[in-house]
Amino acid sequence: MKKHNFSAGPCILPEEVFKEASKAVINFENSNLSILEISHRSQPFIDVMEKTTSLVKDLLCIPNNYSVLFLQGGASLQFLMLANNFINKNKKCTYLDTGTWASKAIKEAKLFGEVITIASSKDKNYNYIPKSYNIPSDSDYFHCTSNNTIYGTQMKNFPYSPTNMICDMSSDIFSRKIDVSKFDLIYAGAQKNLGPAGATLVIINNDIIKEAKHNIPSMLDYKTHIEKSSMFNTPPVFSIYVSMLNLKWLKNKGGVKWIEEKNKEKANLLYKTIDESNLFYGIAEKEDRSIMNATFTINKKNLEEKFYNMCVKAGINGIRGHRSVGGFRASMYNAMPLESVKTLVEVMGEIERKA
Ligand SMILES: *Cc1c(COP(=O)(O)O)cnc(C)c1O
Repeated sequence: MKKHNFSAGPCILPEEVFKEASKAVINFENSNLSILEISHRSQPFIDVMEKTTSLVKDLLCIPNNYSVLFLQGGASLQFLMLANNFINKNKKCTYLDTGTWASKAIKEAKLFGEVITIASSKDKNYNYIPKSYNIPSDSDYFHCTSNNTIYGTQMKNFPYSPTNMICDMSSDIFSRKIDVSKFDLIYAGAQKNLGPAGATLVIINNDIIKEAKHNIPSMLDYKTHIEKSSMFNTPPVFSIYVSMLNLKWLKNKGGVKWIEEKNKEKANLLYKTIDESNLFYGIAEKEDRSIMNATFTINKKNLEEKFYNMCVKAGINGIRGHRSVGGFRASMYNAMPLESVKTLVEVMGEIERKA
């Protein structure tokens, strides 16, 4: 049976991408070698790296003074790496606490200097995005999380920052238009909207490198990776290759503007169903709802398992909410077709009619 994959990550990718990737595992570009065995220093792979980088720049309209890097260690390594590089002159940094991932980033930054948590939505189990706060200009940087995967909240606007602006965009990069010039460092683990786990995308303003600390280990220094074009050590070849295929798919379909429309259409259908229902209700505040991850629950606790089983029967996968929130979570990443959301909405309607 066809599966509808609502998993929060690793994400769904287009069928065509899986097919082409599987071919390359056996025979990469008619070389009679596998993508998994070719040298990362060979021209065919250098071409893959360059193509992937230029697709990222093109799709996100990245200004010329930025570098695009593919590193390893996930978004989780970026939590400490960015703090290690950029907590420098002022010995302090500012964070917006919008949930688990933001808190983990804060925990790591504390190892390198003073952390000001300028605002937090912890008081309501992170079901909203705090809005009125002023970022101190004597901080080395401000850090925020654009989309809170676990809670289903998303920043619709970004604050003015008088200092370097750093953002974890792991779960909504390439899902909507962003003005990269407003940020100095953007990072994202590949596995939420870009490709298979293994690569971490980093977009960095080259001008801020001179403000960074450099008496740190080479592998943790952004300068190393910029100078070596992400080839300081063996890069995650397969993850980058499949990301390239996925970005090509996105570009051919119509790019970020096109996918943003599609993503809104999917999210609107699900949220409309939730809002019109007497049985389901949304967890995140309406104005902060994410178009990537929708969190909702059912007001009759005893129907939770029944609904879950009906979903499984309909081929719906990965719908259970995160343990810290409960209920359900539907992740609707770029490659998810509207048909999958329609299937989910049908199951919601069916249980409501029976309840
Ligand atoms: C998944 C996720 C992370 C963690 O990513 P890893 O690549 O597994 O380290 C960090 N931030 C956000 C917003 C996420 O969704």
